[in-house]
Amino acid sequence: MPPLAYRGRLAPSPTGHLHLGHARTFWIAAERARQAGGTLVLRNDDLDAIRFRLDFVDAMLEDLRWLGFQWSEGPDVGGPYAPYNQSGRRAHYRAALEQLHAAGLIFPCTRSRRDVLEAIGAPHEGAGADDEPVYPSSFRPPAGSPLPPLGDKISINWRLRVPDGETITFDDGRYGPQSAVAGRDFGDFLVWRKDDLPSYQLACAVDDAGMAITEVVRGADLIKSTFRQLVVYRALGLTAPKFFHCPLMNDDRGERLAKRHDALSLRTLRERGVTPAEIRAIFAAEKLT
Ligand code: GLU
Repeated sequence: MPPLAYRGRLAPSPTGHLHLGHARTFWIAAERARQAGGTLVLRNDDLDAIRFRLDFVDAMLEDLRWLGFQWSEGPDVGGPYAPYNQSGRRAHYRAALEQLHAAGLIFPCTRSRRDVLEAIGAPHEGAGADDEPVYPSSFRPPAGSPLPPLGDKISINWRLRVPDGETITFDDGRYGPQSAVAGRDFGDFLVWRKDDLPSYQLACAVDDAGMAITEVVRGADLIKSTFRQLVVYRALGLTAPKFFHCPLMNDDRGERLAKRHDALSLRTLRERGVTPAEIRAIFAAEKLT
C-alpha cells in the first residue's frame, strides 16, 4: 500500500494568549507538514467551553495568522472532517464512550483526586501537577463486574482499565523509542468526567483518528499522554498516528514557558514591534524539525 498522504494538525486550547513556546511547537508542526507536502489542519480544542472565552478563540486564530501559519482545514475555513471545534464534536466522543462501555473496558469511579493521592501516599500540594496520578488497582472494580448504564447525562467519572503490566511503546519522530508500563507508569485514566465532558485523552485520540491525522506534533510534556492515547486507539480499534514531540521552551530562569508568561505572549511581542519574520527566523535557526 502506498504511504498515506501526510496530515498534521495544530491543536491549540483557547485558555489564554499564545506564547512563544506554543508558537514554536506549531511552527515545527507546520514545517513538518510543509516539508512532507502534506495538509495542515487547525483544531480548536475548546472542549471545556466554560473555561474558554470566545475572545481567546479569535485572538488565537489571529495570532496564528499573524505569525504566518496557513491551514487548509479548520473552524474558520471548514473542510471534509468538520466540525473542527471540539465543542461541536460531542457526538463522536459519546459514540466512542459507548463503544468502550459495550466492550466492558471502562468503569465508573467515585474516588476524588484526593482519594487517589492519599492511596498512593503522594503529597497533595503540587503532586503530579502536570500529570494524572497513577490510579491504584485496589480502587478498581473486579474485571467482568457488571457495569451500570451510562445514562443520557453523565454525573460520574468513567475510567479506562489499562492493561496492567503491559509495556506500551512507540517510536517518537524526535526522541526515538519510548516505552511505559501500564499500571506502573500510568494507571486507569479518565475518559469521561462527571461534569459530562470527555477527557482530553479520549477527545484527542478520537479526533486525531477521526480527522485522519498521520503525525501528531506537540510538546514533550505530552509524551505521557501519548501512552494513554495509544491505549485508547487500541481499545477503539483505531489506527494510531505517528508522533513527534518537541522540546519545551524555557524562560531565562530555566522555567518552562506557560500562558502566564505574558511578556512572551505573541501579543506582547507584536506590540513591542517584533516581526513574524524575526520569530520564524529564531525557530528556523534551532533546526528542530
Ligand atoms: N489542546 C491541547 C493542548 O493545547 C492539545 C494537545 C495536543 O496537541 O494533543 O495542550
